[in-house]
Amino acid sequence: MATLKPMPAATKISAPFWQALKENKLKIQQCNSCDGWIFFPRNHCSHCLAHDLDWKQVNGDGILYSYTLARIPTMPEFSDEMPQALAVVELAQGVRINTTLIDVAEEDIKIGMAVKPVFDKVTSDGETLLRFTAVNNAGGVSDYVDPLEGLERNESGQVQVPVSNLAALYALADNKFTGWSNTVVVDQELINAFAELSGDDYWLHTDPERAKVESPFKTTIAHGSLVQVLQSRLTIGLPFEITGFKTMVNYGSNRLRFPAPVPASSTIHGRSKVKDISMSHKGVQLTLEMNIHVLGNDKPSVINDLVILYR
Ligand SMILES: [Zn+2]
Repeated sequence: MATLKPMPAATKISAPFWQALKENKLKIQQCNSCDGWIFFPRNHCSHCLAHDLDWKQVNGDGILYSYTLARIPTMPEFSDEMPQALAVVELAQGVRINTTLIDVAEEDIKIGMAVKPVFDKVTSDGETLLRFTAVNNAGGVSDYVDPLEGLERNESGQVQVPVSNLAALYALADNKFTGWSNTVVVDQELINAFAELSGDDYWLHTDPERAKVESPFKTTIAHGSLVQVLQSRLTIGLPFEITGFKTMVNYGSNRLRFPAPVPASSTIHGRSKVKDISMSHKGVQLTLEMNIHVLGNDKPSVINDLVILYR
């Protein structure tokens, strides 16, 4: 499962730090020239400017140097973590690390208190963030917990995700396609009916004789917008159901493309994936990428990034 929270991007210089965290180790740099300890990761020693640094494992014992309690999320993605104890920890080696203090009650947080590291697994891929906690707490490794685990399922087996459960909502945005829907045949009769309804009776759609001779497709093709609305006839089994909202609104589309034609008499089917979940003052926005294909064609005929707004 993914997280939509912004994650640190390891650079060539800082990569050993992040890699060590994955292995539940804290490594910081030490200068071979003056023995000084250095954090954040750099190419040179911040004490003597030498370029001769080595990565050394340390046990992470330290003290709380400073902190602030953020009660308003610094970004909407963090609203499930409120209040957040944004902390600066001073390690025994003297370097200071920006981090978060976890599992300590507000009234127990004291400047100078002894702290130790927590290797917090934040994705199922083992991506690890360095937190700190009180020295008397368990510390060590905090295993990844799938936010969808333990949620109820309905009769169709869909996991029930309350709109208020941000962590679970974010976990839905895994960019994985559902299975294929049922199929629908797009025949000339349907295309003609849509031409009449929409007023778009261009010969490319409605004149099979002329299309046979003049169209590059050698046959009539369905209107892109017809295929788009046919998604209502395709039953796509989403693995989840969002619950606990007051209203659900079709908010439109972020992207609508018709990359491949649908020749008359084609059979179509569709699938979808959750591309994004985002929060705004309007509510929770779920972006569902709908793809409709002609059966057997790898290239989609419709790509529609549908935005659904829950509030
Ligand atoms: Zn040095």
